[in-house]
Amino acid sequence: MREYQAVFRCIAGCDEEYPLDEVVYQCKRCGNLLEVHHDLNLLKQQSAREWKRLFDSRTGTTEWPYGSGIWSKKEWVVPGIDSENIVSMFEGNTNLFRAKRFGAMFGMDNLWVKMCGNSHTGSFKDLGMTVLVSVVNDMIKRGKRIQAVACASTGDTSAALAAYAAYAGIPSIVFLPANKISTAQLVQPMANNAIVISLDTDFDGCMRIVKEITKDNTIYLANSMNSLRIEGQKTISIEMVQQFDWEVPDVVIIPGGNLGNVSALGAGFTMMYDLGLINRKPRIVLAQAQKANPLYLSFLKGFTEFTPVNPQKTLASAIQIGDPVSVQKAIAILKEFDGIVEQASEDELANAAALADRTGMFACPHTGVALAALIKLVEKQVLSKNERTIVISTAHGLKFSEFKVGYHEGTLKEVDCKYANRPIAMPPDVNRIKEVLEREFRARD
Ligand SMILES: *Cc1c(COP(=O)(O)O)cnc(C)c1O
Ligand SMILES: [Zn+2]
Repeated sequence: MREYQAVFRCIAGCDEEYPLDEVVYQCKRCGNLLEVHHDLNLLKQQSAREWKRLFDSRTGTTEWPYGSGIWSKKEWVVPGIDSENIVSMFEGNTNLFRAKRFGAMFGMDNLWVKMCGNSHTGSFKDLGMTVLVSVVNDMIKRGKRIQAVACASTGDTSAALAAYAAYAGIPSIVFLPANKISTAQLVQPMANNAIVISLDTDFDGCMRIVKEITKDNTIYLANSMNSLRIEGQKTISIEMVQQFDWEVPDVVIIPGGNLGNVSALGAGFTMMYDLGLINRKPRIVLAQAQKANPLYLSFLKGFTEFTPVNPQKTLASAIQIGDPVSVQKAIAILKEFDGIVEQASEDELANAAALADRTGMFACPHTGVALAALIKLVEKQVLSKNERTIVISTAHGLKFSEFKVGYHEGTLKEVDCKYANRPIAMPPDVNRIKEVLEREFRARD
């Protein structure tokens, strides 16, 4: 498939172009971010119907590398890469399920949740990391000297980087803000033998360090300012549309911190639109934690200005980011997709997650932010109850057991834990247990 072409291009429209296997993250002329530009004219040589048929035929196969939800769309992701050098654990292809009971609580009967966290390391970060590590592996295999891959992280990026690097046998370095990530997130890169550096700063501080460290071109930067990750993450849009037999949802709600993922979501829909696979675009809602809400504040001003904020501690730790790298891409996407930004307080995000859990989910706090945004926008009648709406669940709740335990023990700050459910400690006495069960049945009526 060497015939298809993709290159890095400056998002500000400079004429600069670089090959995907060059170690470059920003435009050399203006310093802006890059994006992967595909030659759409070449891709248009196949009709929309042919693309759909091809993607459908690869779904669920074990054939290398198409069993991956990302690499089943290889021609749209990194067309030129040698398949032998792809680093994949067959990520993607996650379930999209109908949240019937949860939706019914708000009068919605067409609410869906895309479980991006049902993945190798438990978050959507796997989708981008398979692409980035594959390109690095391809460079190494073709003789380029790269000593390690490195990232700053709020927990999930480092877990994904460490796992994919370990799978490929490439050393990895992760910079984490001390005491700001969950136990599971800390132990994941440790287990995968990354060099784990815990810094007494926040995410933005870690980001500054990793940018310095990767000025050495033999240490490859794996943060989402590296647009290769966006190419993997954009396949969620394609996958969701495919799961609806190539129908477009009306609304997609996604939580955002560094804003790479919402940019990717938009990029996926735009590419399908440009290649004729879909004929309209959904509305995109970006949900932020109130404690780290710079894009929400910008939205209130019609995106006419953007000012970074000093992010406060939030339960939604993976989006505790005040100075998002991909803000310009995200604003462009939101403008193009009739976008809305909503925010959620600690109380709102924790109770939304707990309420969803009562209907069978196990929502991570970031998914809680998205669910809370949904509830608020439906109650304000900004969103209609009848539209086909998808909430993007970004991580597996099991990575955030401290959040869950804290909720049910009632120890979370600023949260009135309305749906806390405590274990009932009792002696093994059948009669007393029966009494308690009667009481519990009545309480749950
Ligand atoms: C990274 C992450 C996000 C935010 O994605 P951005 O691209 O930084 O906006 C949301 N939820 C979880 C669980 C994450 O790991
Ligand atoms: Zn430029």
